[in-house]
Amino acid sequence: LNRRLAEFGTTIFAEMSALAVSTGSINLGQGFPDTDGPEEIREAAVRALREGHGNQYPPGPGIPELRTAVAAHQQRRYGLSYDPDTEVLVTAGATEAIAASLLALLEPGDEVIAFEPYYDSYAACIAMAGGRRVPVTLRPHHEDAAGFRLDLDELRDAVTDRTRLLLINTPHNPTGTVLTREELRAIADLAVERDLLVVTDEVYEHLVFDDAEHLPLATFPGMRERTVTIGSAGKTFSFTGWKVGWVTAPPGLVTAVRSAKQFLTYVASGPFQYAVAEALALPDTYFEAFRADMRAKRDLLATGLAQAGFEVFRPAGTYFITTDIRPLGEADGFAFCRALPERAGVVAIPNAVFYDHREAGAPFVRFAFCQRAEVLEEAVQRLKALA
Ligand code: PMP
Ligand code: GLN
Repeated sequence: LNRRLAEFGTTIFAEMSALAVSTGSINLGQGFPDTDGPEEIREAAVRALREGHGNQYPPGPGIPELRTAVAAHQQRRYGLSYDPDTEVLVTAGATEAIAASLLALLEPGDEVIAFEPYYDSYAACIAMAGGRRVPVTLRPHHEDAAGFRLDLDELRDAVTDRTRLLLINTPHNPTGTVLTREELRAIADLAVERDLLVVTDEVYEHLVFDDAEHLPLATFPGMRERTVTIGSAGKTFSFTGWKVGWVTAPPGLVTAVRSAKQFLTYVASGPFQYAVAEALALPDTYFEAFRADMRAKRDLLATGLAQAGFEVFRPAGTYFITTDIRPLGEADGFAFCRALPERAGVVAIPNAVFYDHREAGAPFVRFAFCQRAEVLEEAVQRLKALA
């Protein structure tokens, strides 16, 4: 393994899911739902496969039906206009969209600012692209229920003459933070002032709860022309195995990302692209029901974790809850998560793996709530036995 990748080892998700299987534990670690997406969309995939749509290489940018559906979704939900032919690119999940964007847009030595904790592929992809990551730490607010927040001064101070790109994620994995209009406006102003590119991972765009609202960064003044926005059918329609994601951006940026993408997978997920095109056109009732279902699960797990003695940072978005384990008399999330399957038959993720400043993330542990209610209830019963 080369030096660029040596520090990354095996992803925590593979490690922890394997542990869940080998110990027979409830897996609240890796974020994937235990209920598949809509029946009619599964049927659409079967139909495509049977009728011979997408069984051979689809077009490099993605099938026109899906690109049109992505553009229509951005228009309908956010008033953002993208040309399906020149401003939309279908990728092998958001994972490839992230990799291709960074490989396409970074020169060796370019600095990339990302919020810490960050989704694990960001660090690895920045490294593969020869870039340098500059983490800006989201700070926990224990008192005012604001969760993990960005310090805008720290963000401004992190920009240097070598900064090329801001890598944003809202709603944010693993903290569940949803950036506010004011925070996004400040990020946008900074990007314009310092002439930075922005890659924004918005895969949890449909999972925002209560008063939180998902606002795409590309809707802010001066942003559309410098922003690559990333979405995923895995998250929005509960088909994480299909690996269908997409990028929307102005033509020059889409062409750049496609240049990298064509040598990663070239194309992927032929028949599933047809099904996802139909999924994106589902009525609003689908998205509302999905959100309501996840909100109920969030409430169930958040309440249960608090009763079990964890400090809970109630997420405004995503399907993850970050907790602080110190009220349980624990301090090391890694050790806690490694022991948890034996102690309680539950798997969780230590947030420290998402930090460069590992000590800043040490006491935090992430639980996923995209599981059936009875599974979450059983997990809570097991965790209560810890105390
Ligand atoms: N970004 C974030 C923030 C994620 O949580 C995930 C999924 N775990 C991805 C990207 C990857 O999405 P996909 O499965 O579509 O590759
Ligand atoms: N995004 C999922 C999570 O954060 C897992 C994705 C993966 O395993 N790469 O849990």
